[in-house]
Amino acid sequence: MSDPLYERDLAADALDLVALAARPYLDGLQERPVHDRAMDGLLDELGGPLPERGDGTLGGVERLIRVGTGAATHSSGPRFFHLVVGGATPAAMAGDWVASLLDQNAGLWLASPLASRAETVVLGWLKELFGLPAGFGGVLTPSATVAHVTGLACARQWWAERHGVDVAARGLAGLPPMPVFSSGLVHASTRKALQILGCGRDTLRTFERDDAGRVDLAGMDAALAEAGGPAVIVANVGEVNAGDSDPVEELADLAERHGAWLHVDGAFGLFAALSPRTAHLVRGVERADSVTADGHKWLNVPQESGFSFVRDPELLRGAFGSWGAAYLTAGDGERVNYNELGVESSRRARALPIWASLRAYGREGYRAMVERHLDVAAHLGALVERAPDLELLAPVQLCVVCFRYRPEGVPEERLDGLNARLGEALVADGRVYAGTSLYRGMRAFRPTALNWRTTETDVERLVEVLRELGATLTRT
Ligand SMILES: *Cc1c(COP(=O)(O)O)cnc(C)c1O
Repeated sequence: MSDPLYERDLAADALDLVALAARPYLDGLQERPVHDRAMDGLLDELGGPLPERGDGTLGGVERLIRVGTGAATHSSGPRFFHLVVGGATPAAMAGDWVASLLDQNAGLWLASPLASRAETVVLGWLKELFGLPAGFGGVLTPSATVAHVTGLACARQWWAERHGVDVAARGLAGLPPMPVFSSGLVHASTRKALQILGCGRDTLRTFERDDAGRVDLAGMDAALAEAGGPAVIVANVGEVNAGDSDPVEELADLAERHGAWLHVDGAFGLFAALSPRTAHLVRGVERADSVTADGHKWLNVPQESGFSFVRDPELLRGAFGSWGAAYLTAGDGERVNYNELGVESSRRARALPIWASLRAYGREGYRAMVERHLDVAAHLGALVERAPDLELLAPVQLCVVCFRYRPEGVPEERLDGLNARLGEALVADGRVYAGTSLYRGMRAFRPTALNWRTTETDVERLVEVLRELGATLTRT
């Protein structure tokens, strides 16, 4: 049978298959390796020509479950420390299934009052969680990168208005480059957003006072004075190599003094606001004009979740609204059309997993989780300091630990190569995942602990496996 109409009665059976597979999969996540290379052969089953006659609903889904649960990178388990990747809390994952079950188009109030209201509610909760003013506008995005595009599109709108141009209507032609200033902690996705927005990624200038990229405030101050006109400052809370943060309060002072726009990248760092132990790192964020954060990192909701907050909600509408298709109805304060406030038009109800998770665990649950991760990172830092063949490269900040493998007798000039090979060996081994980066010119590991499942035992395992593979590498 080919037409899905004739398989209408199997819709729930197909979901039952997924639910049945979920229990052993989720139960196994605690113990299984992050990646089992022996399963890679399954990937071939994804290929082949487009079937003329399909496998039918259950056949197709069965195959996907078999290949998927075998060959996936089990990054939602507790020992994926690579990149900056969260898991999905039990409630968030179930909330995501509900979003799939209901399959709402969350672009227009008319299409789904449920999705629109849920988005308004979770944006309000998130502002509370992070201590952002209730009056900020906001929109859920698929990622921090798209949240950057959103916030910086508003910055661009604001900046062009100061040059007498409605950039949403007229474009950038005839305007000078938009000056954008940041520290060396800036994430590549900020440049990508500028590249997408036609501002050019190379227009971003960094002001650094040391090789860790910490901000040179005096240099930035002078450049802002020299720029004369409106400019954009990007402050970074939670950098990906060592978890470092810019002094947001000082950058907010600079922005105020020069009439500049302040954009904050708090992709995961914004969650420092949840604990009194780290809240000082985000002090001043409430003075920002636009703020980026991720849901699929420290909030631990499934992939494709980010948020953008913008002080002046009208700028969101200016940058993204009024595209005027005749079949669309205008929204209002109550009945919000989120497709007028962000990049996407049709979009999924990504508010639902966020709602489910915040409802399930509340401020207290999230604070406990964040503080556990702070402890786990500190524990990892201590393990590194105690190990004779590991070298901590930066004080532990937030949930990132930056270190390298440095066994006795290996000369400095060979350490970068050794650590790069160890990084590859670790990923090939698959029991735990962590990757390397360049920190102050050194090849270094930078595991991040922000998955809700991750505990101290998991970072102990990371150290064990890393030292074991390191010893093998140095012997050969
Ligand atoms: C992950 C990250 C981003 C990009 O986030 P995506 O969700 O992958 O687009 C931006 N900034 C920082 C600091 C990050 O850690």
